[in-house]
Amino acid sequence: MKTVVIATNNAHKVAEIRTALNFEGWEFKTLRDLGIESNPEEDADSFLGNAFIKARAAHEASGGLAALADDSGLEVDALGGAPGVYSSRYAGEDGNDEANNAKLLVEMADVPEARRTARFVSVIAFVDEDGTETFARGTIEGRVGYEERGSEGFGYDPLFLPDEYEGKLTLAEVSQDAKNAISHRGNALRALKALLG
Ligand code: IMP
Repeated sequence: MKTVVIATNNAHKVAEIRTALNFEGWEFKTLRDLGIESNPEEDADSFLGNAFIKARAAHEASGGLAALADDSGLEVDALGGAPGVYSSRYAGEDGNDEANNAKLLVEMADVPEARRTARFVSVIAFVDEDGTETFARGTIEGRVGYEERGSEGFGYDPLFLPDEYEGKLTLAEVSQDAKNAISHRGNALRALKALLG
């Protein structure tokens, strides 16, 4: 059995990673499962940089297990790519989805429909037992809505209208499976699976 540490405790991400990378003989453990503390400062200025900070830290903290980390966020064109790498702490407090969504609505208040384009980006970094590094990137294009809709998912999902649904549904109004089929993380995981398989 090959144990792979997932350098996140976000239950949504863990479930998606487990399902997507269903290689025979692989078992995934979170840092919490293994009782490992690894909280490196995510101070890179790119998703790629931060994903590798987390994956390398988990590889080292686990004594050399294979490790995988996702870094992701929302890029809004009218805001020059913000919140970007600051997505989880856009409104100040790390991981406060409600405050982040409220701030995004305020920032977008005067932005007309045609300029509300945005994308979620996910970079998944993988560090193998021998230190070999691999990564994959995935995106999903869409628009920022005018009000929160739906209760599935997390983060900015209630405000994000993927192009696939022609502006009719947010990512928080569809099932987890439907989201995974088109999401940035789903796309990054499919690309990573092809690279590692
Ligand atoms: P990370 O956990 O450091 O990668 O931060 C990612 C942040 O980007 C989250 O806190 C969310 O605000 C946002 N984000 C990333 N992926 C998603 C998603 O699938 N849906 C909604 N928000 C997301």
